[in-house]
Amino acid sequence: MSLGEFDIIARYFTRRSRRTDVLLGVGDDAAVLQMPSDRRLVAAVDTIVQDIHFPRGTAAGDVGYRALAVNISDIAAMGAVPVWFTLSLSMPTADADWIAKFAAGMFALADAYDMELVGGDTVKGPLVITIQIFGLVETDRWLTRSGGKPGDLVYVSGVPGEAAVGLALVQHKLDPSDITSSTLLQQKFLRPQPRVALGRRLRVCASAAQDVSDGLLTDLSKLCAASACGAHVDLDALPRSAAMNSLLARETQEPFILGGGDDYELLFTVPPAQVPQVEVTIANEVRCTSIGHLVEEKNVRCFRGAQEVQTIASGFDHFR
Ligand code: ADP
Ligand code: MG
Repeated sequence: MSLGEFDIIARYFTRRSRRTDVLLGVGDDAAVLQMPSDRRLVAAVDTIVQDIHFPRGTAAGDVGYRALAVNISDIAAMGAVPVWFTLSLSMPTADADWIAKFAAGMFALADAYDMELVGGDTVKGPLVITIQIFGLVETDRWLTRSGGKPGDLVYVSGVPGEAAVGLALVQHKLDPSDITSSTLLQQKFLRPQPRVALGRRLRVCASAAQDVSDGLLTDLSKLCAASACGAHVDLDALPRSAAMNSLLARETQEPFILGGGDDYELLFTVPPAQVPQVEVTIANEVRCTSIGHLVEEKNVRCFRGAQEVQTIASGFDHFR
């Protein structure tokens, strides 16, 4: 079936409004949104490109889910609540089946967070999906990368590296010897869980936070640069998972853990005095592990016991 731009928007991206703060949604020249007086607006945008952020042939539903998930993750890292988003969709052909599945994947996640699509753009071109997201946060405090201080403990949620192993499995670069583990890790790549609830809890007790998208050490370096300090990472403290253990020898996991991207877990720092409170606060949320601490000297260094270890983990950089 051949679809025009108008048909695509009307059929797949126009839905009955579900939020009373959307005064005008999809269909006009722009959306009109009602801001609560006791909140700040938090805005972010992220683009995913076929062959760069996801392999050709990735299921449409997974592409739709992932395009929104990576954006929600940025809002989570600010300690905010995601509420509205716009979608710029560039695709080479108007394949009704593909668009329907893409929309279903995206809206399933949007509905889970009570978010609303309020506008966008639909163009012909290479498969590129850009989502701009808006969130709300209390006026008194939100999370940033820059609040870390020497002595603060460094924590990470989940198990970094699982998504990178999942991508290697999706790309048939790794032997899926254990099917259950292989499926679980591929889902970590295809359907990352944004850590909104964790970010909300950390808003009042973490000193700094950011989400892990480009790789643990790369993203920790960014947090350190913003906080004007460095970090020591204890390699023996890194979280491990049964799924990774069943597919990879312990030593071969480290490049994935330290350098792999796409996890969309939260990396955050906690002042020592706040540690007991944070441990209690996050206990029922998601697995979080202390992996090191911030230091004055502006380098990120890895240790095994007292021994410094040179790691070759290089995170993702589009232009390197
Ligand atoms: P304009 O030419 O004024 O930019 P368009 O014809 O591109 O308007 O879009 C018409 C309406 O449909 C606008 O409200 C726009 O925000 C919305 N829209 C277009 N593409 C999408 C999309 N992929 N998802 C959601 N809304 C969309
Ligand atoms: Mg337009």
